[in-house]
Amino acid sequence: MRYSKMLIPTLKEDPAEAEVISHKLMLRAGMIRKLATGIYSYLPLARRIFNKVEQIIREEMNRAGGQEVTLPSVQPSDVWEESGRWNLYGKELLRFKDRNSRDFCLGPTHEEVITDLIRREIRSYRQLPLNLYQIQTKFRDEIRPRFGLMRGREFTMKDAYSFDADESGAEESYNRMFEAYTRIFERCGLEFRAVEADTGTIGGSFSHEFMALADSGEDAIVSCDSCSYAANVEKAEIKGTDFVSGDRPGPRKGMNKVSTPGMKTVEEVTGFLKVTSRDLVKTLIYETDKGAVAILVRGDHEVNEAKLRSVLGCNELSLAGDETISEVTHAPRGFAGPVGLGISITADNAVRQMSGFVTGGNEGDVHFTNVNLDDFKVNAFADIRMVTKDDPCPRCNGKLRLSRGIEVGHVFKLGTKYSEALGATFLDANGKEQLIVMGCYGIGVGRTVAAAIEQNHDKDGIIFPVPIAPFQVLILPINIDKNEVRDTSEFLYRSLNEEGYDVLLDDRDESPGIRFKDADLIGIPIRLTVSKRTLKEDMVELKSRRTGEVVLINKDSVLDEIRKRLSG
Ligand SMILES: [Zn+2]
Repeated sequence: MRYSKMLIPTLKEDPAEAEVISHKLMLRAGMIRKLATGIYSYLPLARRIFNKVEQIIREEMNRAGGQEVTLPSVQPSDVWEESGRWNLYGKELLRFKDRNSRDFCLGPTHEEVITDLIRREIRSYRQLPLNLYQIQTKFRDEIRPRFGLMRGREFTMKDAYSFDADESGAEESYNRMFEAYTRIFERCGLEFRAVEADTGTIGGSFSHEFMALADSGEDAIVSCDSCSYAANVEKAEIKGTDFVSGDRPGPRKGMNKVSTPGMKTVEEVTGFLKVTSRDLVKTLIYETDKGAVAILVRGDHEVNEAKLRSVLGCNELSLAGDETISEVTHAPRGFAGPVGLGISITADNAVRQMSGFVTGGNEGDVHFTNVNLDDFKVNAFADIRMVTKDDPCPRCNGKLRLSRGIEVGHVFKLGTKYSEALGATFLDANGKEQLIVMGCYGIGVGRTVAAAIEQNHDKDGIIFPVPIAPFQVLILPINIDKNEVRDTSEFLYRSLNEEGYDVLLDDRDESPGIRFKDADLIGIPIRLTVSKRTLKEDMVELKSRRTGEVVLINKDSVLDEIRKRLSG
């Protein structure tokens, strides 16, 4: 393509509306433009990138036995009512009526539609297993669309659905999709982790989120440096530490009451008493639908409310207000402690290994030191805290790394939820009617592109991984009006195109400075600069966008050099 003919409206300044780097760079590189909140137009550069990502997805889905279909994006309410989700889905589902006042929605996902198709077409076990996928526009009326393509309302998604005759077949389908996803994200050049999303009650793990690692990610995750364990921080288990009675460190001297005027926070108290936060037990009062409870965690640990909720078996859970705190502790906020407390106490497992610690004194401006576990009654010990980077991997004892992730894919074993609701059955080998076992598998195409940019950029712009770059080579002639410059540029353009490469020739009537800046911004992996200066020696300048390395190459060896660099 010739740059002068393409619509690539680059911007010099960071747009004010963008918070994260991928959003900024996609706007600046002229890839996307906003039409309405969370709704974007994809310009030619973005379309080319999407095409490449979608091609990788297609190849891997087909290789894994998937068949591409296209399902309607406008869906009647009937099937949603059958699955029970017409009422459950809430405001994210954009609903409207047709001219006959019949209810419809814009598809946010396609479980209902595909199950409806399958229940009509599948009769026998001989037609199973089956895997159908599509790459299509979805609409979810997000309450807070943000971060450009990362959380939009209208977005491109690859969704796939597997249909099997039994559980073991469904598990095989799941594993095949897991492997396909791994290959897809590897081929897109992403650094990612497959994170256990839900270990479920069936045993084993039947849901994984594929997280691209990026500081701007909305999810906090931990991953092991030594094994493949990775989990959402909310779900990360703490390696169980077996408590041996009498094995507590430190002397037993009896607790002391100390005056701590105005010292409320862990930092204030430990600084004042010249101890570390590991020597203090925090007492947090929570209000639940089962009444107020006290929660104990080590001073440097944080409560994990998701774990706490399931340990306590309660639906409602929130930190108590000042009134409740003074009611149950008889002290102002900041001085709660377990000694003499009249409500149920749940302590984190780590507290079990502590002795001679500091707690609040349930009295204004008072703390206790040298407190031990036999000074109060703990109703239950449990894993109720957030994982930290100092915790060992729960699987292999390796070192954990905390990072943030962007969910780019999700594989999920559905079981018979939808086939049961919509009556999707088949006749087994004995002629007996059985429910089809399903799985569903999504990839956010726009998010994958956004994540790739989050992971691959510098101060000058995007550094596209070669497999998804809109062009592989950019030819930048300096003074194209000079015959030798024009001829060499055109020759390179022609021969690279003939070789099957995606080449952009920057033939614009703009200063070299502007064109160099744009070249860095739009992130084409290889830039060839053709100038009179180097042509004197029959040379062309080649610059790698990723490494910044610049080399001079004989103009007749350019093709060989490009082949070499792009083959890996
Ligand atoms: Zn590990």
